[in-house]
Amino acid sequence: LDACRIGWELIDHGRYSYWGGKRAVVMQFSRGCPHLCNYCGQRGFWTRWRHRDPVSFAKEIAWLHREYGVELVNLADENPTSSKKAWRAFLDAMIAENVPVLIVGSTRADDIVRDADILHLYRKAGVIRWLLGMENTDEATLSLIRKGGSTKSDREAIRLLRRHGILSMATWVAGFEDEGFRDLWRGFRQLIAYDPDQIQALYVTPHRWTPFFRIAKDRRVIQKDIRLWDYKHQVLHMTRLKPWMLFFAVKLIELAVQSRPKALARVLFHPDPEQRHSMRWYTKMGRRVWFREVWGFLVRDRRVAAGPTLAEFWGAPQDADEESMVFQRPAREPALPVAEDKRVAESSRLAG
Ligand code: SF4
Repeated sequence: LDACRIGWELIDHGRYSYWGGKRAVVMQFSRGCPHLCNYCGQRGFWTRWRHRDPVSFAKEIAWLHREYGVELVNLADENPTSSKKAWRAFLDAMIAENVPVLIVGSTRADDIVRDADILHLYRKAGVIRWLLGMENTDEATLSLIRKGGSTKSDREAIRLLRRHGILSMATWVAGFEDEGFRDLWRGFRQLIAYDPDQIQALYVTPHRWTPFFRIAKDRRVIQKDIRLWDYKHQVLHMTRLKPWMLFFAVKLIELAVQSRPKALARVLFHPDPEQRHSMRWYTKMGRRVWFREVWGFLVRDRRVAAGPTLAEFWGAPQDADEESMVFQRPAREPALPVAEDKRVAESSRLAG
């Protein structure tokens, strides 16, 4: 990855901001992911995890700060913390660079739990928020999608991050199974128990090259406009909830989780002014998105009652192709031709 140069000089940096007006860039420390979540499009897309040189990556961030005034890096990695050793080397290099650059990104809750002993370095290196891909709060669903995490480690990760002054954003995905109101209620209660700083509710969106596509291939598609296959719109039919029921239940969950007294108190009185600023900004953005999505659902977006099945809509599953894309080490030449090898073995047996 270090060989891929980014044309930073081509960018008018003054036009790009994030996190409440901070001059920002999107970068990648690594690509791919070693985990096996069966719904995830990233793993099959990048096929294997690899990372940049930690020291030169930190140097590039520091240079972006000095040269272009960059204040925030949004890591677009699928999973930057996969290797504790490489990630630790990056944190140390970032701390040595000593630049006031903030970092936000996404990672796995169990990596946070694994790194409990170095989380103070995360914060010192500039990390202020992680999006934790929790996807679901139900153990049975987590095992259906092979998430490999557990509700215990999800909750622990949020607690550890808070203890180190890092915000957590939990993603929660509706529609992995044919849920009903009772499942949504359970999910809501579990989210409250997790107590994340922010949440992002999404809808299951199966990619053809993932094993989950095969699991869901007979479910009906209700959204035929592929521009709306963006995780923020329901695309698969559910038998127990009409689209409006699911939509308003999800909106209500977002509203209730974000506006609980505890969450509001953090937005208003968080002791760290940096975090207070970012949470207020996020709340402001979230409000605008929330109303826009309600308007979109009621007025703009069209759905079909029972469209084609997933397989009819997209075609046959492609997850077998994914296996063939996985990097394979080429078969090694035997040190000696097979016949020669046998002859040597035979003579040494006789000599022995
Ligand atoms: S969902 Fe996250 S942890 Fe799972 S394979 Fe995808 S990137 Fe990796």
